[in-house]
Amino acid sequence: MSTLEAKGNWIGGAWRPSSSGEVREVRNPSNVDEVVGVVAWSTPADVAAAVESAEKAFRSWKNMPAPSRARILSKAADILAGRLEEVARLLSREQGKPIGEARGEVQRGVDLLHYYAGEGWRSLGHVIPSAAPGALMFTVREPLGVVGVITPWNFPVAIPLWKSCPALIFGNTVVLKPAADAPLTALAIASVFEEAGMPPGAFNVVTGPGSQLGDALIQHEAVKAVTFTGSNAVGAHIARQAAARGIKYQLEMGGKNAAIVLADADLDHAADVVISGAMRFAGQKCTATSRAIVERGVLDAFTEKVVERARRIAVRPATDEEAYLGPVVNEAQRQKVLEYIELGKAGEGKLAAGGGIPEGDLYARGFFVEPTVFVDVRPDARIAQEEIFGPVLSLIPADSPEQAIEIANGVKYGLSASLFTNDLTRAMQYIRDIEVGMVRVNAETAGVEFQAPFGGYKASSSYSREQGRAAIEFFTQVKTVTIAPAGGC
Ligand code: NAD
Repeated sequence: MSTLEAKGNWIGGAWRPSSSGEVREVRNPSNVDEVVGVVAWSTPADVAAAVESAEKAFRSWKNMPAPSRARILSKAADILAGRLEEVARLLSREQGKPIGEARGEVQRGVDLLHYYAGEGWRSLGHVIPSAAPGALMFTVREPLGVVGVITPWNFPVAIPLWKSCPALIFGNTVVLKPAADAPLTALAIASVFEEAGMPPGAFNVVTGPGSQLGDALIQHEAVKAVTFTGSNAVGAHIARQAAARGIKYQLEMGGKNAAIVLADADLDHAADVVISGAMRFAGQKCTATSRAIVERGVLDAFTEKVVERARRIAVRPATDEEAYLGPVVNEAQRQKVLEYIELGKAGEGKLAAGGGIPEGDLYARGFFVEPTVFVDVRPDARIAQEEIFGPVLSLIPADSPEQAIEIANGVKYGLSASLFTNDLTRAMQYIRDIEVGMVRVNAETAGVEFQAPFGGYKASSSYSREQGRAAIEFFTQVKTVTIAPAGGC
């Protein structure tokens, strides 16, 4: 089916239009004249239908042997691998991710499907010594039921899959509500599961307005858990509703990630990695590098290297093979980024590169922002404290490694951080003192690997972890079983 025909929601193993009949166009942020596709603009009634189909499917999906569920995920992995270029191009046109990175994200989706298929073959639970003579005591991990999956637009393949795959493999059924800025990619994932033979109702997708559909999903009595990635404001709202209902919830939210550059660091390597972390995908990763905290002894040399690299960045429409930096996702996001840039120019820092909208016909119909670097930024400035989610990097001087860590920790977030040094003792101190969930040494704040636990400290997360084997904790509940021989043995 062409993406220009509204495909509808994927509910109960069928493509269904919105109950209101409404549809919405999705436009290309690199060129708003291009309509990438049309999606259903759904209602709470559609969410209810999806949850009911997931509830109906739950028992048989839960009772299917885990290796059989694994085979479906493995098949989906192969199908997605075969459609990698198609889905990457859709993703790139839909939300502006440079095509090279879009291919990388779809490949990550393939790998996630394989990885969680593997979980269907591995042991779950423990045998525990019982004090009762002859008794066998063990734990089993069971699914929760229908899981609501609410995702942002910035990783529309990887995030829905890193939540849905563990949910499914452990026997839950899923209703995915993707972000309104990236619904087509979520529907492509549904079509991959359709082709892989996922039983009707095990996986459902409903597209439309976030707040109405999100509320309807969390409040449906058959939904037993909600996993959310997105902004802190929406996360707090979800936590309140989930707590009021007494259901399990998991939140992955914002970041203000710092890279600390010590005087002994390899400055060329650090500059390459900091620029990549700050500017790739226009800084719209929760793990993007937003601050570089630099020891004064190398501040001038490092600044020169970073600014020189920022000025050389290829800003291009996302599907251009040369694109390093594409557009930001929509006009509201661009306005927000430009407002932060104005704060920087108005005295929060000194502008060293970029600072506006690039000029030229290539950029006239898209939401482009120049790669922007501010130097001499105060640690308490708003551009150094608040999540910008754009291609903006603040350089902050530090008098010592200890002060650099203090500055890095002096924000409300705690998702990811990097340290650039060759000094093992300094690295060990940083690993001990930094208040983030993902600690990197001589590596980018972004680009973390999915087979390891993912999540943040402080306001970045709700203290649970996603991905890797950590996902078992959220998507299952533990049953402790004791079997005592009747009459002893
Ligand atoms: P957002 O909070 O606006 O939206 C996220 C999702 O919530 C979307 O599906 C949206 O439709 C839905 N939503 C909106 N209002 C809702 C409501 N009232 N109830 C329920 N759901 C609702 O976030 P976004 O703009 O899509 O994404 C950007 C944010 O996501 C940034 O803050 C970024 O840091 C964060 N993010 C975090 C991670 C992480 O793993 N920590 C990863 C990627 C993005």
